[in-house]
Amino acid sequence: MGKILNRYKKIVGSEKIKEIEKRAKPLKGKYILHINATYYGGGVAEILDNLVVLMNDVGINACWSIIKGSEPFFEITKTFHNGTQGYPIKLTKEVKATYEELCRRNSVYINFCGADAVIAHDPQVLPLIKYARPDRKKEPWVWRIHTDITQPDPDLWNYLKTFIKNYNEMVVSDEKYLKDDIGLKQTIIMPSIDPLSKKNRDLSDKQARKILKDAGIDLKKPMICQISRYDRWKDQVGVVEAFKRIKKEVDCQLVLLGNYATDDPEGAAYYKKTKAKAKGLKDIKVIADKGASPLLVNALQKMSEVVIQKSLREGFGLTVSEALWKRTPVVAGNVGGIPSQIKHGENGFLVNSVKQCAEKTIELLKDDKLRKKMGKNGREYVRENFLITRHLLDYLELLNRIIK
Ligand code: UDP
Repeated sequence: MGKILNRYKKIVGSEKIKEIEKRAKPLKGKYILHINATYYGGGVAEILDNLVVLMNDVGINACWSIIKGSEPFFEITKTFHNGTQGYPIKLTKEVKATYEELCRRNSVYINFCGADAVIAHDPQVLPLIKYARPDRKKEPWVWRIHTDITQPDPDLWNYLKTFIKNYNEMVVSDEKYLKDDIGLKQTIIMPSIDPLSKKNRDLSDKQARKILKDAGIDLKKPMICQISRYDRWKDQVGVVEAFKRIKKEVDCQLVLLGNYATDDPEGAAYYKKTKAKAKGLKDIKVIADKGASPLLVNALQKMSEVVIQKSLREGFGLTVSEALWKRTPVVAGNVGGIPSQIKHGENGFLVNSVKQCAEKTIELLKDDKLRKKMGKNGREYVRENFLITRHLLDYLELLNRIIK
């Protein structure tokens, strides 16, 4: 058992591997169905890409399905995504009808038959449980929400609760997202990165330089970067503002790399807004990642002096752990799941404004020793807390508990 799993031994040690094998044993052959809205773009797809493979490697029959969406549906679910993070939304009869109708149809398309547990990720797929045939929901269904739900839009949350109550359990990414108004068992499972994926595996400096060169990026000037979907909560516009201040003190370059998820109709507009903000400024590259560049992400995170993640809301923020794993200190918004990853002053800095973001980045750019020390701390902190092996263990614990 566990050919792939064995490869992690050198990173996390053999005890962890043995523990995973032990906890996976009772789940051998169990059919676990993950459902979300996209195979591409954003942290959920990134996690499932690696986790589903590893679940199979340890003997579980894990599958991953996505729903068939439509433009109006994804427009609505993007507003729901924003609404779960506190953005006010308009919940009309038509909105509800479009949302539910699409999930009703998908409840027929998706093969729930024989699933020992269903894990539905995020609001896009939440109503599936309401419409699935009764014989397909005898086994446990878990709703796994990845956003920052500390202060959701109240009307939206009340509406979502009408579906949430049908689930057996809910999983959130951070202690502060636990809810006292849903009457369901809740578990915290923090996300993770895969240290052996193309995006996170160790590259040599030479390899990384070549990848950057091929992408038209030279390292003549020190580099800072932010890698995120183009999205208001990621605040690329604020990063450009911060860069203007940084540039006055340190001659460096900024790379913004971003993509849009297939279920996100707002991405293109925010990309344009970022481009417009950066127009005419020297040493900024605003790149739209078309999706096949995990090695570019890897090289950027590795070779940057500082990685920025200036989010205004953030369910977790995989990009933070990705950068820390590459021994690069991170300056990031003090929001959502970011403070779980950044220990202020130890492996990076938590900031609350453009001004602070600029100040802390300048401090790091000017201090080689500090960057090195923080980089080392970051690597070890991620090894302890945010690797896929810990994530798998958390899931195994949940599944062992809920599958009878
Ligand atoms: N990502 C990428 N290319 C991009 C932008 C983002 O591969 O141009 C990846 C990023 O490396 C990370 C994921 O998409 O693995 C984003 O996850 P995160 O949790 O940071 O944010 P989310 O998009 O889920 O809000």
